[in-house]
Amino acid sequence: MARQYFVGGNFKMNPTTREQKRALIKILNSADIDPQTEVVIAPPSLYLIPVLELLRKDIKVAAQNCHAKASGAFTGEISAVQLVDAGVPYVILGHSERRSLFHETSEIVAAKTRAALDAGLKIILCVGETLEEREGGKTQDVVQAQLKAVIAVLKPEDWSRIVIAYEPVWAIGTGKVATAAQAQETHAETRTFLASAVSPAIAESTRIIYGGSVTASNCNNITCQADVDGFLVGGASLKPEFVDIINARR
Ligand code: PGA
Repeated sequence: MARQYFVGGNFKMNPTTREQKRALIKILNSADIDPQTEVVIAPPSLYLIPVLELLRKDIKVAAQNCHAKASGAFTGEISAVQLVDAGVPYVILGHSERRSLFHETSEIVAAKTRAALDAGLKIILCVGETLEEREGGKTQDVVQAQLKAVIAVLKPEDWSRIVIAYEPVWAIGTGKVATAAQAQETHAETRTFLASAVSPAIAESTRIIYGGSVTASNCNNITCQADVDGFLVGGASLKPEFVDIINARR
């Protein structure tokens, strides 16, 4: 079965006013969106519930993070169980900003992934190398190590609820998008790795999306690559061009 094209919008800590948030939702609600594409937006946690209420129902909502524990004395945190109770279907885990700025190790990401799956969430699991690692020829070592920690906690039936986002750290928020060839190469190697580390069937069915400085003007070359199943979009998801990225396969 063909993998469904997937486009995620990671708003990060944006926008800064409720009015801007409503304007973004208005654009999406009135947009002509390819029904073949699975679209998920990840607003800041403060806006999750109003976005769920205001947003058209064919676009899904993701949290940008969750805690591995279900409840307790974890000031400032939100649990996967709470997200599910609020009606949120997806969570982004392992984003490079969480890994680098908030010191999340691959083991922490794995524990969060397990908790999120157990609570009933779907996961956008981010992996990717730094510029130094790429230049040192270590891209696959890094991606595989990040994936291995999660693979260790997954059961075969969990994979239908995992989307892998390959996001090279050097491309995130830098305006320096990977070339179509770089994205395809890493996605294909990652799929080959999944075939041996998990199973050929899961490697074939799991979506691997690209993230890092994706815009409406650079997404077309990347989207026609065989192993690229969509995008995770940061900055451009806050602009009207996000709709063009969603429709890039049309
Ligand atoms: P960017 O962010 O599109 O602004 O580079 C992508 C991401 O961090 O998911």
